[in-house]
Amino acid sequence: MTKSANLGFPRIGAHRELKKALEAYWKGASDKAALLSTAAELRARHWAVQRAAGIDIIPSNDFSLYDHMLDTAQALGAIPPRFAAIADPLDQYFAMARGTADAPAMEMTKWFDTNYHYLVPEFHAGQRFRLSTSKAIDEFREALRLGISTRPVLVGPVTFLTLGKPKDDGLEPLSLLDAVLPVYAELLAALKAEGAEWVQIDEPILALDLSDAQRQALRHAYTALATPGAPRVMLATYFEGLLDNTELAVALPVAGLHIDLVRAPQQLAPVLKALSLDKTLSIGVIDGRNIWRADLDARLEFVARAWDSVGPDRLEIAPSCSLLHSPVDLDGETLLDPELKSWLAFARQKLEEVVTLTTAMQRGKTAAKPAFEASAAAVASHRASPRIHRAEVKSRSASVAPSDHERGLPFSQRRNLQRARFNLPAYPTTTIGSFPQTAEVREHRAAFKRGDIDAATYDAFLRAETEKAVRIQEHLDIDVLVHGEFERNDMVEYFGEQLDGFAFTRNGWVQSYGSRCVKPPVIYGDISRPTPMTVAWSAYAASLTDRPMKGMLTGPVTILQWSFVRVDQPRSETCRQIALAIRDEVVDLEKAGIGIIQIDEPALREGLPLRRGDWEAYLRWAVDCFRLSAAGVADDTQIHTHMCYAEFNDIMPAIAEMDADVISIETSRSDMELISAFRDFRYPNEIGPGVWDIHSPRVPSRADMESLLRKASEAIPPDQLWVNPDCGLKTRGWPEVEAALAHLVETAKSLRHR
Ligand code: GLN
Ligand code: ZN
Repeated sequence: MTKSANLGFPRIGAHRELKKALEAYWKGASDKAALLSTAAELRARHWAVQRAAGIDIIPSNDFSLYDHMLDTAQALGAIPPRFAAIADPLDQYFAMARGTADAPAMEMTKWFDTNYHYLVPEFHAGQRFRLSTSKAIDEFREALRLGISTRPVLVGPVTFLTLGKPKDDGLEPLSLLDAVLPVYAELLAALKAEGAEWVQIDEPILALDLSDAQRQALRHAYTALATPGAPRVMLATYFEGLLDNTELAVALPVAGLHIDLVRAPQQLAPVLKALSLDKTLSIGVIDGRNIWRADLDARLEFVARAWDSVGPDRLEIAPSCSLLHSPVDLDGETLLDPELKSWLAFARQKLEEVVTLTTAMQRGKTAAKPAFEASAAAVASHRASPRIHRAEVKSRSASVAPSDHERGLPFSQRRNLQRARFNLPAYPTTTIGSFPQTAEVREHRAAFKRGDIDAATYDAFLRAETEKAVRIQEHLDIDVLVHGEFERNDMVEYFGEQLDGFAFTRNGWVQSYGSRCVKPPVIYGDISRPTPMTVAWSAYAASLTDRPMKGMLTGPVTILQWSFVRVDQPRSETCRQIALAIRDEVVDLEKAGIGIIQIDEPALREGLPLRRGDWEAYLRWAVDCFRLSAAGVADDTQIHTHMCYAEFNDIMPAIAEMDADVISIETSRSDMELISAFRDFRYPNEIGPGVWDIHSPRVPSRADMESLLRKASEAIPPDQLWVNPDCGLKTRGWPEVEAALAHLVETAKSLRHR
């Protein structure tokens, strides 16, 4: 019989209970017992939710107190030496995640193309592994006591090693495979002994471009783990298609394969063709990465194709990936407009969709009639709604001409006009936009939202903060000022709230890392900008000073990337609509006398597709959207952009094609290494390599900054260089900001005199 399955449930809780429990524990406001009991309650509740929805195959060990890669590292005994002496496992776990006074935390990075961050395992030459925690086993038992026989989830050995970082020169992490496999074998045998018939092993790297060594490692690993005593393995892949790895994946000696048919529906036919008759196929047909309700009629047709080929007994119906990346429960959205709400599905609703499809396959569509009718009604209202489709937005977007992406003159000539206009010194100084979002700023915003203070009071407060920031910058003798962004809660939400086509949820939280969650805006309709968004603040700040005031905007790709996006049109089309809205804002800023405008694109790099073959197409439209947003201004208006956390080497042509007059980038954390890409490419425009790692509370000295700038001047002709911090200063406090910026300005001045 066809079964419904789930690959993972969000851990954080519908009301972010885990976040609150963790933060209370870290602060010392609660104890270990309280934290562990909240965690157990959440697991029990989530298992119950899945059972109540009718899911046949429910996962365990998908829960984590912080991160599943960290769980895996600890379970396998891959403890970085600096944490090895911490005896208590929970203390050790949080020390690895968050660092201690004398041991920096493990590095964190994005999980494939999601906004979830995992802790990067660290590997040493000759590393040994041993089974060191019983988490997977404990959680299997815990569910069993509640009457649920679960399918435990493990991160697969090849993905685990591939995503880790060698700490010794020349160490190839995959060379540790033979050391780690016996631990996996031991864990699998232990789970089987507890009664686990199946185990889900995640190898998402199967959806990436693989090297021969990685392919060989996968073959070797699964051959070694396929012992008679092991449970059956459901090998899970997601986030992309198997494509050229199809033959490899279907040939691995495992009992089942999960594929993501939301991201890569075209892989169904080749997988069906290649899959042998003894394997179970799990089809991921409900989107685990977005919040839209599925068109169940269309999905059912798709499921039927798989069913026709593999038959009822070897088919599982599932979400595309773990629901970790979805908010928990739409029922909590009591303030959302009912029509809009009827178009959405969060984790709990997605499981109901999986069950509806499964029921229809088992007993016919009439057995799930009301669910299909509700889905069809939502689809119909979604297709026709005038709130989504706005003719004037579509026609404007369709009539964008190639020339709309072009500034008037090439950079070499714009530069002369801008130099004449602004008359800035060599090594001009500026900041990236935000100044400290102090407790006072946040309290005023909260009080305003609650209605405790009125708009006039809030506005007066923000004006006073802005003026203070302007005076401080003048006093520091910074060349190009910013207004400080005190009025902004978040660099995407602030714009989304003012644009048509965006909606906001109350509880649509998704885990970003550890206890941190984000609540991405929902882009549901055609986007336009009813009125200027930032002009009043920039104009006010500019009126306070004679120095140039930089206008500050978030770019179209970053707004797109950090939102839940529409799936009824290509991302590139949605991005173009945002770009046109930003373009209007840029033009209005210019009209208001703002001569320097920064359009931040910190997420441009992270939007790169997982497969290299898709990079070019993405970069084409992403760069075009940036250019479209920027190109409406005169040649003597200076456009800046800003990017952080990015490697540039492999995307340098695209960065240059953005053709910003000035780009600021994060470089100080990498000791200026990141600038080599710009050197090698002979990047022609101006560039501000960050000289202050704003992620650290440490105030860098003049000598630190000077040494970074010297490195920069060796790589880039000095007349192209700006001097600025790595990123915005919103998380820092005023005393360190003033001290560090004083050093920054002094450093720039001393270089000018050489
Ligand atoms: N202008 C933004 C700020 O300064 C940029 C933030 C970012 O790059 N993430 O806060
Ligand atoms: Zn930044």
